[in-house]
Amino acid sequence: MKVCKFGGSSLADAKQLTKVMDIVLSDPARRIVVVSAPGKRDKGDTKVTDLLIALAESALSGGDVEKPLAAVVARYASIAADLQLPDSIVSMIERDLRERLSSDRSNPGEFMDLLKAAGEDDNAKLVAEAFCARGVKARYASPRDTGMVLDGEFGNATLNPDSYRRLARALSDFEGIVVYPGFFGHTADGRVATFPRGGSDITGSILAAAVRADVYENFTDVDSVYPVDPRIVPEVKRGIDTMTYREMRELSYAGFGVFNDEAIFPAVQARIPINVRNTNHPSEPGTMIVQTRRVTPGTVTGIASEDGFCNIVVDKYCMNREIGFGRRLLQILENEGVAYEHMPSGVDSVSVVIHEKNFDAAKEKRVVQHIKRDLAPDAVVVQHGYAILMIVGEGMCFSAGMLAKATQSLASAGINLSMVNQGASEISVMLAIRAEYRATAVRALYNTFFGGC
Ligand code: ASP
Repeated sequence: MKVCKFGGSSLADAKQLTKVMDIVLSDPARRIVVVSAPGKRDKGDTKVTDLLIALAESALSGGDVEKPLAAVVARYASIAADLQLPDSIVSMIERDLRERLSSDRSNPGEFMDLLKAAGEDDNAKLVAEAFCARGVKARYASPRDTGMVLDGEFGNATLNPDSYRRLARALSDFEGIVVYPGFFGHTADGRVATFPRGGSDITGSILAAAVRADVYENFTDVDSVYPVDPRIVPEVKRGIDTMTYREMRELSYAGFGVFNDEAIFPAVQARIPINVRNTNHPSEPGTMIVQTRRVTPGTVTGIASEDGFCNIVVDKYCMNREIGFGRRLLQILENEGVAYEHMPSGVDSVSVVIHEKNFDAAKEKRVVQHIKRDLAPDAVVVQHGYAILMIVGEGMCFSAGMLAKATQSLASAGINLSMVNQGASEISVMLAIRAEYRATAVRALYNTFFGGC
């Protein structure tokens, strides 16, 4: 059995939805179809999820809800009209949205998730209806009835692992094609909660693991995963045929947007291969993401980059002799609820690289004060405006000179390297540079490792 997930751009209008149905019907193994909310039809368009966020924000601030509500309903109405589906599906969607709007608003995060989840939930109902209108046996499956229970915070929920058993049992009862809404589930006490943005990938991966699918097909709008961001290197032509889970994890951690990084774990745990494919070119084989692959030594699989990082630099003479220094430094960050990304160190200095989005000015002030008070450093500074570059590849293991090539490439481009970090797994090297040189650096590294491809 195959679980396939279709992203928002694959479901943005009736033409795209028709392609989706053709793809599903072309292979009888495609039994479970996970859907996102309708996405952008063109560059200037707005995703339904973003329209729903605007609607929820307006409701929470006591503003007008009719106009943003009409904008959401209009998206479904135009798909339904183009597919000649009965009006009842659009009235049902409008009723559902009004009911969600009339629910309790005392917890804004909960209210927001209830509205956001409507994008996928109503779309799954519409897609199931569209299959039925083609005479295909298909059914909408509800996350509540099938036992998709989530823990954690609204907008950032995680799966309760007991859900796998329940989902496997519930989905085995369905006949025909199951259309399942991505992105959300319910807390143990029945409240709607969503995964982080892009979370329909996570739903697909969970269902693939639950039913022990032969493959998890993730349909999007690119022919394959590219070794570098095509917005930075538009001339990149050749996609990646096969890559390992850990390569994908490292690359999506540092800005490879094609696949949600959290979505890898359920498939990894159940050893389900992931196939990233293009709804607009279904004959293309796409990229396979698997546990192991044949590796050519000395090769790089991909180069990712992301900005928005800062760096806390702590200097203290003879730091290396002070037992517990690192633990106490990280304890200060833990007390503030700040995760750290990397921690390159020297003999008398240590840097802690942090995502700026998790580190506002008030937190920064408190962290610096505590470092001064608890660690008595010679100096502590917070440097902003860094980007990280990740060079990733199983082929980098045990291959001499990979880092030398990377640093030479940046040196030739006149870019100063601020930090370097390579884990013991040897499948990735993290380089930190000033954010303004990110695009130049990525292009230089691409030419060095993929020149001519
Ligand atoms: N619709 C949600 C979003 O835009 C989830 C998804 O598409 O995966 O983030």
